Amino acid sequence: MMVEEEVQNASDATARDAVIEEIAARAGVRAERGRRFAELTSLRVGGAIDWVVLPETEAQAASVAGEFEKAGIAWRVLGAGSNVLADDSEHHYVVLSMREVKGEARFDGERVSVSAGFSLPRLCVEAARQGLSGIEGLGGIPGTVGGALWMNAGAYGHEIGEVVETVRVARGGRVVEVPGSEVSWNYRHTSFREGELLLGATLRLRPDAPEQIKARMEEAKQKRFATQPHGARSAGCFFKNPPGSGLSTGKMIDEMGMKGEKRGGAVVSPVHANFIVTEGEDARASDALALAEEIRERFRREHGVELEYEVELWSATNSKDEGGGMKGEEEKTEGKDES
Ligand SMILES: Cc1cc2nc3c(=O)[nH]c(=O)nc-3n(C[C@H](O)[C@H](O)[C@H](O)COP(=O)(O)OP(=O)(O)OC[C@H]3O[C@@H](n4cnc5c(N)ncnc54)[C@H](O)[C@@H]3O)c2cc1C
Repeated sequence: MMVEEEVQNASDATARDAVIEEIAARAGVRAERGRRFAELTSLRVGGAIDWVVLPETEAQAASVAGEFEKAGIAWRVLGAGSNVLADDSEHHYVVLSMREVKGEARFDGERVSVSAGFSLPRLCVEAARQGLSGIEGLGGIPGTVGGALWMNAGAYGHEIGEVVETVRVARGGRVVEVPGSEVSWNYRHTSFREGELLLGATLRLRPDAPEQIKARMEEAKQKRFATQPHGARSAGCFFKNPPGSGLSTGKMIDEMGMKGEKRGGAVVSPVHANFIVTEGEDARASDALALAEEIRERFRREHGVELEYEVELWSATNSKDEGGGMKGEEEKTEGKDES
């Protein structure tokens, strides 16, 4: 790179940093530097992030997202990071973290209104205590309500989309309420647009006896314990099941003899073959990706099927205003493992 080009790039970056700081300060929102995806995702790998911006209310989140859009600043939204594999490079965009936009779950009869950063497992417990059924199967999904809404998370016969009355979405810096009936809730995929910021939702649940709801939650928990690694650094199932086949990717990877297969600090879980877990301080996103690609290659060879990622791959060069990101491309599939 020429010296003049380097100087120009450095001054562009400084100007951009100043804009980001100013937008965050104006909205009264914390903005942090020096964070890494390794701290913010459940796989515990991934590179440095330019800025992490942490709004605490839905209005603040809508406002900063609107300002970033106006200023042409690239950003992506992150919940609990339990479904994201970010690469090891430096990510030069803003991560809009929704984890602090949690507030309280507000119950009113059969309805509960909750912000995007609220923990999904906690919501399930609180709903059960209130004697409200409809989400008890989701209690073991370790993410935020926003992340669950984004991809219509589901397990053990429940999907969040089935109980959504309205979703609050950020549009043009404002909070807009969208009826749940206007959203397509498909298998681990919705019609929300790439990069759309979800702020919260009102769910409509069904009254039932708390003991029965808790018993169903416990049953789902036991099934998870029996079939999935616990306490491991994972992102749940790495791949979708082959669409429309009724086949289980995990079972097929297991039958290929790949349980325990290792690349650097990434391992095919010996408990569930569709889980890639990371181990040790030196684990890298590139290890997990190399292992995943090895699985896909063997799967292609042995079954003639192209496995689709369920985990979202975040590349340092793909950000919202570049039309990138890898959220989309899903279709309705069936018979997926519960993860
Ligand atoms: C052990 C384990 C078990 C799992 N089991 C299941 C399971 O049974 N069923 C299942 O469906 N999933 C499962 N998962 C995957 C994951 O927990 C879910 O996908 C969860 O809903 C992701 O929520 P999150 O807050 O962590 O989202 P993130 O991982 O932070 O983000 C995932 C995607 O959602 C987007 N997003 C997050 N918040 C928002 C928002 N507020 N507005 C707009 N977009 C947003 C992000 O941009 C990203 O594209 C499992 C994961 C683990 C680690």
